[in-house]
Amino acid sequence: MESQKQFKRRFSFEFFPPKTDQGKEKLQAVRNQLAEVNPDFFSVTFGAGGSTRDRTIETVLNLHKQGISTAPHLSCVGGTRAEIGELLDLYKENGINRIVALRGDLPSGMGASGELRYANELVEFIREHSGDHFNLEVAAYPEFHPQARNAEEDLKNFARKVQAGANSAITQYFFNADSYFYFIDRLEKMGVTIPVVPGIMPIVNFSSLVRFSDMCGAEIPRWIRKQLEAYGDDTDSIRKFGEEVVTEMCEKLLKAGAPGLHFYTLNQAEPSISIWKNLGISDREKIAF
Ligand code: FAD
Repeated sequence: MESQKQFKRRFSFEFFPPKTDQGKEKLQAVRNQLAEVNPDFFSVTFGAGGSTRDRTIETVLNLHKQGISTAPHLSCVGGTRAEIGELLDLYKENGINRIVALRGDLPSGMGASGELRYANELVEFIREHSGDHFNLEVAAYPEFHPQARNAEEDLKNFARKVQAGANSAITQYFFNADSYFYFIDRLEKMGVTIPVVPGIMPIVNFSSLVRFSDMCGAEIPRWIRKQLEAYGDDTDSIRKFGEEVVTEMCEKLLKAGAPGLHFYTLNQAEPSISIWKNLGISDREKIAF
């Protein structure tokens, strides 16, 4: 973990672009609540194949102009260089200086894969098109990407994104800190040293967590799964247990030198803010670990 300790810690919250007016209002309220704890930035997801393109743009620009730096996610799957270039120019003109660059997953049956096949090609294209204007974040998978041929190949593919010009990374969520420590250790041995910020998923709903984790290849350890199952419909107990487990993992990560945390909020303020407050992150100077 030595490589990670040199980096300044940063803390961020991720949203998805709302579909309805009601969703927009809710996100505005969530944004206001989260802005109070002074995060380093917000980020907004992008539906692969451009399915949320306009909503992502609208949400990013709206959040950004309210004073907290906001980073759009941008996935290349299903897109052309010209379309991606246009989007990059629009973000640059509007003062956006950070992008989360991804391959994305094309929903089955949805068209061709596009001109750029992998995230390393997207990073390379962004550098060609926009030079060093953007701070580029890429995705990292401490438990390995579900489509990776094997762990070694996945690590090499991660290194390709760094070689192409990524500045830092955000991980897929995990509930086992050792997978993150091991991942960093492997990167260090390969000489890859960029900040790799753990992505944190607060636990609020058991069935949706299981569904989502199966899809993205994140493992829910048996002891957590069993305990959550035992709570059944008792959402208060699920939240309380989830908050405790995730807070403890975050403490362990920060103590070991993780360079910050990125919260997958799912457009809810409470679950992330409770963990944030337990950790005392707002007072970054005095943070106890
Ligand atoms: P890549 O880094 O391209 O990797 C994808 C797979 O291909 C891996 O198995 C890798 O080993 C392999 N690979 C990579 N490069 C090569 C190569 N050159 N040759 C051969 N094989 C290669 N999805 C969205 O649709 N919208 C979002 O907003 C979004 N935000 C995300 C944010 C974070 C922080 C994370 C962790 C994920 C996010 N995702 C999002 C999900 C992501 O798009 C999927 O996990 C997707 O399957 C992989 O994207 P990637 O950028 O990691 O792809």
